[in-house]
Amino acid sequence: MSDAPPLASDDLDHAAQLVRRARYVIALTGAGMSVESGIPPFRGPGGLWTKHGEPPMNGYQRFLADPAKAWRERLSPQGPMRELWTTLAAARPNPGHLALTQLEAAGVLRCLITQNVDNLHRAAGTREVAEIHGNATLIRCIGCVRRFERDAVRLDVLPPRCPECGDVLKSDTVSFGEPIPPDVLARCLDEAERADCVLVAGTSATVYPAAQLPLDVRGRGGDLVEVNLYETELTPLAAVSLRGTSATVLPALVERILAGRV
Ligand SMILES: [Zn+2]
Repeated sequence: MSDAPPLASDDLDHAAQLVRRARYVIALTGAGMSVESGIPPFRGPGGLWTKHGEPPMNGYQRFLADPAKAWRERLSPQGPMRELWTTLAAARPNPGHLALTQLEAAGVLRCLITQNVDNLHRAAGTREVAEIHGNATLIRCIGCVRRFERDAVRLDVLPPRCPECGDVLKSDTVSFGEPIPPDVLARCLDEAERADCVLVAGTSATVYPAAQLPLDVRGRGGDLVEVNLYETELTPLAAVSLRGTSATVLPALVERILAGRV
């Protein structure tokens, strides 16, 4: 965590200026947002996939082939789902999450698109959140796409069924091989089309379709402001790239954005 050079004040000012002058600002966030909330990246040291193995690339097809079996495997004491739930139950939003909530409350940030499934942006109080890879605290109907709080769904008979339409329920988190739920995908594409500035924090944005969103904004002449501990493939496209963790850079950036408002 010490390889980031000290933040240049000029860069912070420049980034704040770009955000302030934009008409429609959105954010795209990823795993780097959550590290300081105690959630290791899936593939990082201590990560869920590092410990339990990568989920199968055809996970969704395997789920559809035998939903009861898939639920049993995921819920087993050695399975990844219980560990994810335990990790998330202990996690709290960090100053980076809270800074984005503040930016939304000030009327600057219009929509926050996240690849994280940890619910921390909502827990921090951000209201307009599009969770492109789903939310691990929710269960979704594969038929009517209604979502339910996990605690409200009984798991004594597997697979659980939708109380509205009777179809199978699965975790709202998007499995490999599963299409992004159409309501969320439409929202993300729509927001990216409106935006003239995108704040990309804690993600190298290499997973499609999330990866396409900042490129769309940039391609239409919008500004990309990056916050990341490391250089990424987006760095050359960014108007400003701020090196550091989301938990340290975002509060400093938001403070400058809001201080300069008239
Ligand atoms: Zn349903």
